[in-house]
Amino acid sequence: GARDAALRPAEPFEKFSPPLANGERAAEPGPPFPLRLPSKAPAFGGAPPEEQHKNVDPLVLELVNAKVVERGPPVQWSDIAGQVSVKAAIEEELLRPLLRPGSVPSRPLRTLLLFGPRGTGKTLLSRCISTQLGSTLLRLSGTTLLSAWKAEAEKILQTVFFVASCRQPAVVLITEAESLLDGGQAGNLKSQLLSYLDNVAASSERNVVVIGTTARPGSIDEASQRRFGARLYIPPPDGEARRHILRRALAQHSCCLSERELAALAQRTESFSGAELLRLCQHAGAARRALPGPHTCYQDLEKAFCKVRPAASQKELDLFLEWDKMYGTRH
Ligand code: ADP
Repeated sequence: GARDAALRPAEPFEKFSPPLANGERAAEPGPPFPLRLPSKAPAFGGAPPEEQHKNVDPLVLELVNAKVVERGPPVQWSDIAGQVSVKAAIEEELLRPLLRPGSVPSRPLRTLLLFGPRGTGKTLLSRCISTQLGSTLLRLSGTTLLSAWKAEAEKILQTVFFVASCRQPAVVLITEAESLLDGGQAGNLKSQLLSYLDNVAASSERNVVVIGTTARPGSIDEASQRRFGARLYIPPPDGEARRHILRRALAQHSCCLSERELAALAQRTESFSGAELLRLCQHAGAARRALPGPHTCYQDLEKAFCKVRPAASQKELDLFLEWDKMYGTRH
């Protein structure tokens, strides 16, 4: 029935074994997360799990299992260029206490807000966190919930957290979180989400983490922001990281630059997001394939600059920094 469906592992996750706390790999690749119902006090909604399960609509459960449970490949730290201090903060404050309970006296962090321009790797980082925890990842867009799934939005949110609770360890990733937390329009959904955040933060023995991402942190009211245990700014990649992303992406398009050209390119792409850098390389690769004849990779890139510009202006980046100073978590 519905409970069995909630407990069924997402297939692709059976293919890899999660990293263990000490970095060793399990000898036998078993199921990547414990398949069990919550054994102690219920995490969400107050009713015991059996009662909660009675309230779950099987069709919504099917939708959540099909569309919200992620089946992407694992993401490792090395897949993310730069973001050194953010990675260290996540490792220190979120992962280590969760993977080695007892080793750190303070209560582990369970709720995280990642903010920054689009395409800077907020989703990528969240997927990496999930890989490091060997967890089920449930990804939900706040905007989709409010538009395409509006009629069932409350039920869907409830079911997402029910499935997370059944499939621990689990990461619930809410992208475009501002659409659910900007007051006014979201109404019940907002208070529902805030109470889930509080429940996750409070139940220290439970293995559920909630990550909200947003490119518009200013739309989230102050009280809601503060419900996240940490708020981390994910800026566009720095020069070194841009060089890294460009080198890797260009190699995929059989484009080869000298170190000097690469350095010049990294300099020219200040404030480009990781996603925009990839797009730039894609355009250059396409130009390369379309136009046979003598032209260098750098010339192809020159042309690509007409097509791809950074979406975030310097002014917007300054606003992110200001917001970070006021509400961000120091790390
Ligand atoms: P966001 O969630 O911040 O909008 P994403 O995580 O979806 O951005 O990033 C989009 C894509 O851009 C990623 O899948 C990845 O391919 C690339 N990307 C962004 N930032 C980085 C980075 N720091 N290192 C490597 N790739 C990156």
